[in-house]
Amino acid sequence: APTTVPARPGIPVPREDLAGMHPYGAPQLDVPHMLNVNENPFPPSPALAAALGAAVTEAAAGLNRYPDREFTALRSDLAAYVGAEAQVPTPEVDQVWAANGSNEVMHQLMLAFGGPGRTALGFAPHYSMYPEYARDTFTRWVAAPRGPAPDFALTAEQVTDAIAQHDPDVVVLTSPNNPTGTALDLELVRAAAAALAPRRGLLVVDEAYGEFRRDGVPSALTLLPELPNLAVSRTMSKAFALAGARVGYLVADAAIVDAIRIVRLPYHLSAVTQAVARTALAHAEELLSQVKVLREERDALAEHLLARGHEVAPSDANFILFHVGGDRHAVWQTLLDHGVLIREVGPEGWLRVSIGTPDDNAAFRTALEEADPR
Ligand code: PMP
Repeated sequence: APTTVPARPGIPVPREDLAGMHPYGAPQLDVPHMLNVNENPFPPSPALAAALGAAVTEAAAGLNRYPDREFTALRSDLAAYVGAEAQVPTPEVDQVWAANGSNEVMHQLMLAFGGPGRTALGFAPHYSMYPEYARDTFTRWVAAPRGPAPDFALTAEQVTDAIAQHDPDVVVLTSPNNPTGTALDLELVRAAAAALAPRRGLLVVDEAYGEFRRDGVPSALTLLPELPNLAVSRTMSKAFALAGARVGYLVADAAIVDAIRIVRLPYHLSAVTQAVARTALAHAEELLSQVKVLREERDALAEHLLARGHEVAPSDANFILFHVGGDRHAVWQTLLDHGVLIREVGPEGWLRVSIGTPDDNAAFRTALEEADPR
């Protein structure tokens, strides 16, 4: 079995509970159609790339100094963006936090609200990193099941029953969910927050894919004024087309943000990251301009897969989980042989494809004819 404990004498031994573990991450392969990590396939325009470069040059002139530890200007820009996007009043700066991707945001949440003797609850299938944040912070991770395929629905009753059963300190709900694409209605979020309130637990709603939700599906941000135990996590990696910059953020009661400020490493957000993120936010309209196309492509691809006879999980995100016949690894491999990299994730027999450019999606459809003939 693989192990992180080196066999060579003299090499220090890591924590026993890390033995046999692999670092998390999907394959990074140089292929024509990269549809495996839910990125936005549209790169910044040359003009925007130049603006980002200019911002980095300006920041570079001051790199002998540590960056603004509280990154107040960036938090203020994020507050304005998220308020407009979710159609809620602009949050106060002290209600907004950011870190190197929403992975780090949620890791920090678990550092502050998880810990030894504490439990975090999620609903499977869920994003694979959640148990790792728990492991790193010595938090017990419990996964209750979502409903059956192809909907993978979650009801308020399932959530409140699981809360009653496991008595968690932290509950993570994901909307839209990865890898299923399922969005949650706000009544469920309200019910979860109410069930957690007497336990003084934290409800995290991970909206990494929030901007892709269908019209009329409100963000959990609309609930913040009524729910002091809610933290909504978001990212610039997906709809915002800025995965390479590593910027995630959350909005919550200022007391929740203050707890994170205790556990964050000093100066965790570099001056370069802050400059790039602020410049990108100033060009939000351009960066988000392809979201409509991606949503339309998603819906068209779901129709196509259904017409081919696949089971398809209804998606509010920029990816689709679908069922294939036979050996899913063989299907995945044949797609890759045709230059299309997707993801082997989710329940056995299911695969997840990120929505690419119209050209990527066409290549995927063509390759699928070979990989899973019907
Ligand atoms: N949450 C979910 C549900 C995700 O799918 C991802 C990335 N795949 C993340 C959080 C983390 O993304 P990032 O760190 O790039 O913000």
